Amino acid sequence: MLTVEEALEKILEEVDVLGTEYVHILDSLGQVLAEDIKSSIDVPPLDNSAMDGFAVRAEDTRGADEKTPKYLKVTDTILAGSVSRQEVMPGTTMRIMTGAPIPKGADSVVQFEHTDSEKDKNAARAGIMEQARPGLNVRKAGENITRGAIALKKGTVIRPSEIGLLASVGYSKVKVIRRPVVAVLSTGNELVDVGNPLPEGKIYDSNLYAIASLVKRYGGIPKVLGLARDDEAELISKLKQAQDSDMVITTGGVSMGDYDMVKDIIARDGRMVFWKVRVKPGKPLAFGKIKGTDKSGRERTIPHLGLPGNAVSCMVSFELFVRPALLKMMGKKNIGKPTVLAILEDDIKNDAGRRIYDRAIIEKRNGHYYARLTGPQGSGILTSMALANGLVLIPEEKLTVKKGETVQALMLDWNEEVNV
Ligand code: AMP
Ligand code: MG
Repeated sequence: MLTVEEALEKILEEVDVLGTEYVHILDSLGQVLAEDIKSSIDVPPLDNSAMDGFAVRAEDTRGADEKTPKYLKVTDTILAGSVSRQEVMPGTTMRIMTGAPIPKGADSVVQFEHTDSEKDKNAARAGIMEQARPGLNVRKAGENITRGAIALKKGTVIRPSEIGLLASVGYSKVKVIRRPVVAVLSTGNELVDVGNPLPEGKIYDSNLYAIASLVKRYGGIPKVLGLARDDEAELISKLKQAQDSDMVITTGGVSMGDYDMVKDIIARDGRMVFWKVRVKPGKPLAFGKIKGTDKSGRERTIPHLGLPGNAVSCMVSFELFVRPALLKMMGKKNIGKPTVLAILEDDIKNDAGRRIYDRAIIEKRNGHYYARLTGPQGSGILTSMALANGLVLIPEEKLTVKKGETVQALMLDWNEEVNV
């Protein structure tokens, strides 16, 4: 049976970085830049004031202090966004607001707090009580970004600060690697969609919504296909609707049951790459490629991940195998979840001989990370997942891990909401 690492490698080999698109900057959060961003302007465009105060010629303030102010004639007021048409002549000054361009003649700004005119907007003269050096409180044109410089490099992951930077150089649209469209389909005769009454013997389909929201969380666009019964014709017809997507995820129907037919359909209609991974939860993971078409109708193959049906198994499999594939498709380089070393607060038995990922609450106390299990670890117990902010990893060969031992923990939520 493949190890987690071997299985992941096979998946990553079969997925490619997607093409590019132009999007409005506000829609680009989390995407990867597909072009260098060259600035056509200086940022800031002009020398401007870092303070509310008086624009002065530094030489006019020589010797000024609180006891011996230098008095200058006030000739203008410059607001942020406007330019004074006048010049600061010797012996004169202008009121200037933060961000307003430095007027001709001035080389420095004395903040209001160091003058006698803090309050009086209409004073005809100002007493300057500080000796300014040239450049005092002046933000130089281009000190942030100079015209012609690369403001952001191709390959950068766009975060809020990058979006701000794009706006500051005047970009409204940006070329990025597009988001993968991921078709999501649940399989099983027992499933009922939310919003309907629950007949005897049935359960609500939770995987569809958990998986679609994982797709969203990691930057993909879920294409929700709904659910299919364990019926070949119905499965095939539903999968037809996935033909133009970049990836297909099904849940259920990959175990040993009489009606587990997802892997047969992958094999018949496409190519199976592997079935089963040495991991718990999530052993019966199936991976293959099925036939699809691109936008212009040309044939291509689409990666199909057949996740196990159990509610926890499919989510853990997603974190381990689907997430890295999606990130690779989006052009990201850093595709692993952050991990920490944590001191275990429970004993864990490994009777499966597989790599175990147990749901845990990971907390930092006195400079150390601690991990405690979120209760029963059955692979259908979704509440154990809802309580967890991480997964502790027990190696394949290790039969028991005792309280107090240090284990590797994979962080699912890093500084996000933790429901404990
Ligand atoms: P399967 O792999 O199809 O045998 O499913 C394994 C277990 O997961 C069974 O108990 C199913 O009822 C359950 N299961 C399968 N699909 C879903 C789903 N979409 N939502 C919730 N539970 C599911
Ligand atoms: Mg089933």
